[in-house]
Amino acid sequence: MHAKGKPFVPDVDLHMVAVRTPGFTGADLANVLNEAALLCARAGAQLIDNRAIDEAIDRVQAGPKRVSRGMALEELRNTAYHEGGHALVAAAMQNTDPVTKVTILPRGRALGYTAVMPTQDRYSQSRNELLDQMAYAMGGRVAEEVVFHDPTTGASNDIEKATAIARHMVLEYGFSSRLGAIKWSDEDNQDSGLDGLQARKYSDKTAQIIDEEVLKLVERAHTEAWEVINNNRDVLDELVRQLLEKETLNEKELAEIFANIRKAPERELWLSDEHRPVSSQPPVPIPESLQNVSSAQSE
Ligand code: ZN
Repeated sequence: MHAKGKPFVPDVDLHMVAVRTPGFTGADLANVLNEAALLCARAGAQLIDNRAIDEAIDRVQAGPKRVSRGMALEELRNTAYHEGGHALVAAAMQNTDPVTKVTILPRGRALGYTAVMPTQDRYSQSRNELLDQMAYAMGGRVAEEVVFHDPTTGASNDIEKATAIARHMVLEYGFSSRLGAIKWSDEDNQDSGLDGLQARKYSDKTAQIIDEEVLKLVERAHTEAWEVINNNRDVLDELVRQLLEKETLNEKELAEIFANIRKAPERELWLSDEHRPVSSQPPVPIPESLQNVSSAQSE
């Protein structure tokens, strides 16, 4: 619908656009096409091509590209290992969508970024998918630790993200067997202007267990990322070599680098309580008629 009336090259990859823009609103998509048209106009091109669309998606997602002038080469290499660490851990996890792009071109406030794109829109996430996301968030920091022995401040957003996921898992999603399936968070009360102590619905002892459970989850993610990076140092180094050379790697280039990746092992089965074991009886199969509809939509 937004593609109407804009001149595209004949082989424009609208599937790539769909894959890279899950969760985009109509206005976001319209912005992407306007940005792409502007980029082409500025370059003197008559038709919108895939490269312009790719760049436009980045601009709408993360702000315009900053010139990397003045960035120390050591910092650039550090960024390549940091982003490479994210991408490697994401690719090694069992429940994570494919890595579609890694770049060390600075944008907005970010030194680089790594994109993991679901091939279909998703509305919920499993416990293992969240644990994967935490490990993948820690991947940048761990690569800096392992390779340079002196991590930078560049991982603060990643740490914030991993901590937030862990807190949600413990406080809202019932993913801690010690704390049970209770909504412990008091976000509703925070809005009412009460300070944290007055608003809190749980005891000091529970507060302490929450802290312990959150720390345990983040530490586990940190260790999982560490194991992936140590098991795949050769893959990480090759990824960094190519990033320093090309600045941005696309899904196909990444798939080649990750062809021989040593995957992280499946996690052991989690039970909400040892007295509530799981069933060995499988779910019913998904009817073939539904599978056809689903694959037609993602085409
Ligand atoms: Zn990062």
